[in-house]
Amino acid sequence: MKKVVKFGGSSLASAEQFKKVASIIKAEDTRRYVVPSAPGKRFASDTKVTDMLYQCYDLVEAGKDVTPLLGKIESRYEEIIKGLGLKLSLREEFVKIKEDLLNKAGEMYAASRGEYLNGMILADYLGFSFVDAAELIRFHEDGTLNAEKTNELLKESLSAIEYAVIPGFYGSFEDGSICTFSRGGSDITGSLVAKAIHADMYENWTDVSGFLVVDPRIISNPEIIEVITYRELRELAYMGASVLHEDAIFPVRKEGIPINIRNTNSPEDKGTLIVESTCRKSRYTITGIAGKKGFASINVDKDMMNSEIGFCRKVLSVFENNGLSIEHMPSGIDTMTIFVQQSEFEEKEQQVISGIHRSVQPDVVEMESDLALIAVVGRGMKQTRGTAGRIFSALAHARVNVKMIDQGSSELNVIIGVKNSDFETAIRAIYDIFVTAQI
Ligand code: ASP
Repeated sequence: MKKVVKFGGSSLASAEQFKKVASIIKAEDTRRYVVPSAPGKRFASDTKVTDMLYQCYDLVEAGKDVTPLLGKIESRYEEIIKGLGLKLSLREEFVKIKEDLLNKAGEMYAASRGEYLNGMILADYLGFSFVDAAELIRFHEDGTLNAEKTNELLKESLSAIEYAVIPGFYGSFEDGSICTFSRGGSDITGSLVAKAIHADMYENWTDVSGFLVVDPRIISNPEIIEVITYRELRELAYMGASVLHEDAIFPVRKEGIPINIRNTNSPEDKGTLIVESTCRKSRYTITGIAGKKGFASINVDKDMMNSEIGFCRKVLSVFENNGLSIEHMPSGIDTMTIFVQQSEFEEKEQQVISGIHRSVQPDVVEMESDLALIAVVGRGMKQTRGTAGRIFSALAHARVNVKMIDQGSSELNVIIGVKNSDFETAIRAIYDIFVTAQI
């Protein structure tokens, strides 16, 4: 049994957190490959080291003195080293980082040093080998991951090392210069390592005890999802729920490696298990609820539209030609509605409307703005009768006017459109009927 364990920034923000991390790793000798983030926030108003490093880059670009800020970063690491009682010194590393920054090593190089240094400390503290991610994670010239080469390098290098720390978030181009993933990218590193070494499990340790059924800003202390499939996760993530970087899913999903989201501050909690498929029923009919505000709908009416071959295609081409992506498209006999992001649409509104008139000569085109979409997701909906009925009666009781309903044929989700102002009320009503009422 082999596990890859990734620890997020808040799990490694201080010496005290490092101690928790080490005791988690040492509790199981299967936890062999460790992927750390850079030190995150120690308290709400704190600044992440990665953000400070981006600021360092900006200072250098603006021709300003980077020494004080770099000094602040160095003291954060020193505090950790001291708190752990290590002999390690990062002095020379900081001299080199300053030199490299002044020699224009670039923004991605600057950002990557957070993980690099944290990895060095963690490896020293655990007594594991430190392997620089620049030697293992390879990017194409356009900044996309060279997945094949990366897999090869990881396999080759890690097969010879039993216990290793591999810093997250960055790798290198073919010429050796540093490239990073997008923010939160250490999750991707962990996933790539898990795939390459054929891990049995990818544990992703963070500061919550798993994926929540609903956004805690809307429902305080919501229930935690015990098991979720990749497809359910994708639906919820698309609608704004986030715990994990989206690109972290693909490498492990392909290999059938489960991801376990765990809480460093509460290691006894089982967390959320993300799997390809499961026969384990979710505790409630629904697995999760997520949603986003800020959509507009464009409703196109034309008598006998359904018998006009190519009608939908022509309408959709107008959106495509204006570079607008479509979120949802419920349709009736003589009407079709297109949901788009309001902020993107507003700039192109008139071109789109005239484009629709020109291409399909509709009877009416109507628009509505300030709409929200809510996704109610759950593999359990397929086997349960009356789910849609329960959702709509809950919404009716909460006096929420439903603007749109869209159920995918997979029966994995129901998408509901409501006014932005009804968003929170609608989510609370759905949560109450499926979760609170069942507890
Ligand atoms: N430290 C990076 C960030 O703040 C990457 C990560 O934590 O995954 O985005």
